[in-house]
Amino acid sequence: MEILSESGLASERMRKTEKRKVLVPTMGALHRGHVELIHAARSAAGADGEVIVSIFVNPLQFAPGRDYAKYPRPEHRDEEVCRDAGVDVIFRPAVEEMYAPNPSVFVEETELSRTLCGKSRPGHFRGVCTVVTKLFHILQPDAAIFGEKDFQQIAIIRRMVRDLNFPVEIIAAPTVREEDGLACSSRNQYLSAAEREQAPVLRGALLRARESTEKSSSATTRAVREQIATASSARIDYVEVVDAETLKSVDKISENALLAVAVFFGETRLIDNIRLR
Ligand code: AMP
Repeated sequence: MEILSESGLASERMRKTEKRKVLVPTMGALHRGHVELIHAARSAAGADGEVIVSIFVNPLQFAPGRDYAKYPRPEHRDEEVCRDAGVDVIFRPAVEEMYAPNPSVFVEETELSRTLCGKSRPGHFRGVCTVVTKLFHILQPDAAIFGEKDFQQIAIIRRMVRDLNFPVEIIAAPTVREEDGLACSSRNQYLSAAEREQAPVLRGALLRARESTEKSSSATTRAVREQIATASSARIDYVEVVDAETLKSVDKISENALLAVAVFFGETRLIDNIRLR
């Protein structure tokens, strides 16, 4: 397994290979969710292809003063996880390698980014689109894998690829969960024992909503809010039913309905989603 940290050298290395290259962009602190993405990347690359994992905690997608500085960076463990999962190349640049001191060009999606997490985290998806663009340029992958836990992120990246003609196939991988249903996340380690115990209420509320025959979005979100509110440490950011393609709110639950939630447990913001039909 190669570990590259300079963008120029990484580009040169990637240009030289004729192999099919599949990228898994991450911020590190790798967990089982990331490992499944790496396995999906291997399937997409084939035994002869190359699986590349980028590890970069992107300052541009964190709000000032938010958890950027304290975001976990377990470098050795991440290397072990990648090695065990059969990764060919890790790209792990320093911040100075990725951003000039005075960057003045950014990539911004202007429609799908206005709702859900985009509304609560202004500038977040601009940071995501900008860094993914840079990773695509540096590493020149044929395909890239993203997790469905970050549903809005995939929709926005697909739109970016469509509108800016990136020659990169975008592949979605299902959400990986802990045994009690909580979606695996690098942020789960911030939860206190009490918060961790309460956090599976999210999955429980989403599953109950899917099982219900309720057709009204507002009645559905009300029931979900009530169930989440039974957890004393939960503070709801949003609970919304949207169309899975346009990400616009819908009044009635039909074929394409997606229920998405973002909830704080203490200081930690967790997200999850489910297709309702
Ligand atoms: P992150 O390191 O949190 O930026 O995530 C990197 C990639 O892993 C993104 O495409 C996420 O959607 C994906 N991911 C994170 N958690 C999970 C999970 N529990 N299941 C599947 N994919 C995930």
